[in-house]
Amino acid sequence: MFCLNCGYNLFGLPNHICPECGSGFNPSDESTYSHTAHRRRSVPFRLVCLMTLYPLIPLALVWATWLAARLHLGRIPKAMADDPKQLGGLVPVAYVAAYLSLGGLLLGAPIYAAALLIYGVWGRENDRSIRVALLVIVAAIETALVVILLQSSIGQWFLD
Ligand SMILES: [Zn+2]
Repeated sequence: MFCLNCGYNLFGLPNHICPECGSGFNPSDESTYSHTAHRRRSVPFRLVCLMTLYPLIPLALVWATWLAARLHLGRIPKAMADDPKQLGGLVPVAYVAAYLSLGGLLLGAPIYAAALLIYGVWGRENDRSIRVALLVIVAAIETALVVILLQSSIGQWFLD
């Protein structure tokens, strides 16, 4: 006897509520539980969490490109003057990686929104609205950080 919603083993429980997800069941009604430990198909919460953390990659790479250029030049890189593609060392590599990750951020935004929506509607956990709200807040903070970085002197140099 397994939970229809999350696949938790319901055998021998004192009350007829799944301790994992809160779904109710009736041991004398076969339609309220499953004979196999199947799980309802959805986007796993961990995957949505990982997707939420993605903006940290372009944030780190843009900053790392600037830092590599600064170390290479021995001074703060100037916009319109110090082209990262012309600098030596790891600067061009970091620059390309940072650019690609920023592109991934733009392409990934609608995919992320869809994953969050699917999780919110069909996810396993019962407190999904709280989880989705927290993830939206984290994503909003990250978006603000990306905007702030790109507007800063670091971003001006990177994007020129
Ligand atoms: Zn359950």
